[in-house]
Amino acid sequence: MTLTQSTTTTVEQSLPDVERAAHHARGFLEALGVDLSGPARRQSPMRMATAYLEMMSSDPFEMTTFDNDEGYAELVLMTDIPVQSLCEHHFLPFTGVAHVGYVPADRLVGLSKLARTVETFAHRPQTQENLTQQIADHLTAALAPRGVGVVIEAEHTCMSLRGVRTSGARTRTSAFTGDLRAAAARAEFLAALN
Ligand SMILES: [Zn+2]
Repeated sequence: MTLTQSTTTTVEQSLPDVERAAHHARGFLEALGVDLSGPARRQSPMRMATAYLEMMSSDPFEMTTFDNDEGYAELVLMTDIPVQSLCEHHFLPFTGVAHVGYVPADRLVGLSKLARTVETFAHRPQTQENLTQQIADHLTAALAPRGVGVVIEAEHTCMSLRGVRTSGARTRTSAFTGDLRAAAARAEFLAALN
């Protein structure tokens, strides 16, 4: 018999006040000299507030895990999971892909939950480094696996659109735990991405 376990994954945040956010978005844009009087821009502060709220929210989901009945002991790897996040330094988006894998011990998890884990931790103000580590920590806590590997490659609009304007440059971060920390396992994980 396969036993399932389930925990709800949420990111705690205080209740948003969209009206207040829109009010301050108007002040923010006006302070920068933007004329909001025309019909095309009248709703822009509210659009801006709801867009930011959407980038910083995610729906809770059930982290359902299963007994590893058959003793599967190799890498489970999901590649090219979309990442849409918000840099906490500039509050500009960074986007890219995450490659998430684990070597199971007693528990398995549905593949869609790997993508949901990425989405949940990405949809909040973040640094790419912390996002990478938080995904690894969450899977470690939920699955107690033999090892977890998370690699994220992303382009940061705070760098591509302003400052040094490094358009096209991607940043790669990684977190490896347990069995996947060993050089050979890590190399195998990275080789599997190509
Ligand atoms: Zn930034």
